[in-house]
Amino acid sequence: MTTKSLSILGSTGSIGKQSLDVCRKCGYSVKALTAFSSVNEIEKQAREFKPEKVALVDEKAASDLKQRLSDTGIKVLSGIDGVCECAQLESADTVLNSIVGMAGLKPTLSAIRAGKKIALANKETLVAGGQLVMNEAKKYGVDILPVDSEHSAIFQCLQGKPANKALKKIILTASGGPFFSKTADELKNVTVENALKHPNWSMGAKITIDSATMMNKGLELIEAVWLFSVRPQDIDIVIHRESIVHSAVEYDDNSVIAQLGLPDMRIPIQYALTYPERFESPVEELSLSKIGKLTFFEPDYDTFKCINICKNAITKGGLFTAAVNSANEQANLMFRQGKIGFLDIAEKVQEVFECTPYYDEYTFEDVMEIDKFARESVMR
Ligand code: NDP
Ligand code: MG
Repeated sequence: MTTKSLSILGSTGSIGKQSLDVCRKCGYSVKALTAFSSVNEIEKQAREFKPEKVALVDEKAASDLKQRLSDTGIKVLSGIDGVCECAQLESADTVLNSIVGMAGLKPTLSAIRAGKKIALANKETLVAGGQLVMNEAKKYGVDILPVDSEHSAIFQCLQGKPANKALKKIILTASGGPFFSKTADELKNVTVENALKHPNWSMGAKITIDSATMMNKGLELIEAVWLFSVRPQDIDIVIHRESIVHSAVEYDDNSVIAQLGLPDMRIPIQYALTYPERFESPVEELSLSKIGKLTFFEPDYDTFKCINICKNAITKGGLFTAAVNSANEQANLMFRQGKIGFLDIAEKVQEVFECTPYYDEYTFEDVMEIDKFARESVMR
């Protein structure tokens, strides 16, 4: 079902702003906007898109915004409950979730329970609570359309259908980030500034660091397991420095189908909103002859340890993925704050993985409890 009206959660971030660009281009009506505390940006967005409701998680920022928008008739909400209210708005048919981190889980569940189509950029939602999300989506008959470029590629290669019996494997591509081919020794003293220099994509700070540690690829492996109902061992990760092949699928007859395009998130964002249709895009055309060469390499699993930690976590199941995700959120933040070194991130995530208890099934409250446990362990 093509989107007509939507709520954008995390509208002030990198994906949020690009989603608003797509809305401008496609003429979608924006019914709600949310952010954490970016008052200036959300005020500007609210004045342009005239949504019914906006929400800021931070109470102080929300009360400031309420004053600023008092001449508009736009309802200003606060707290995570305000975000959830925006996710359930009756007038929106789709919720695009571009919140960063597992804070996006509760609003995703709210949107599913309100029967909204979900365009999901917030991969941590599936990593932290994949079982809950997929069960609820099934129960409420809701579609989850991937915004993440690799998952959009896989979705397009599968032609929107769930993985079928003849699918042999998913080939998940990775840029390799700014530290491709570096040794652990060379990574010991890298700075935040070095890690924030992504070669191909301009993204928010958290995911840029996740790309440098390659935790991002581990999170994406888990995301793919949930979205496409495949086993972790059916996903191969391949480094592809140019970020032109966004991922591929291989069938039993060894035929490989890939999706290609320039690295610009507006393509997958737009497709999640227009599926099953396609419309013109402001993104430049891909010229293969201009690109000239596409390269592929095996990842260095010994140096970029986060990939296998994530693979082990999803293989074990339960709350292991939630625990490693939360440990990473905390360690990633502490690295950005200059409190720990680059290689400490993987060490901390591994430590939390090792002391996570096994659960067969879990509730939202269990996820929140393991989140607290993981963050406290990393801070200790
Ligand atoms: P940004 O950091 O640029 O933006 C994050 C957004 O979430 C902002 O609007 C921010 O508000 C809001 N936010 C932050 N913390 C909270 C919270 N606790 N509760 C509610 N809202 C919050 O992130 P990105 O746009 O880069 O990434 C968003 C998601 O998309 C991530 O899950 C990422 O992995 C995924 N993704 C991103 C890609 C990219 O190219 N950027 C590519 C593929 C996936 P405020 O501005 O007020 O802080
Ligand atoms: Mg991605």
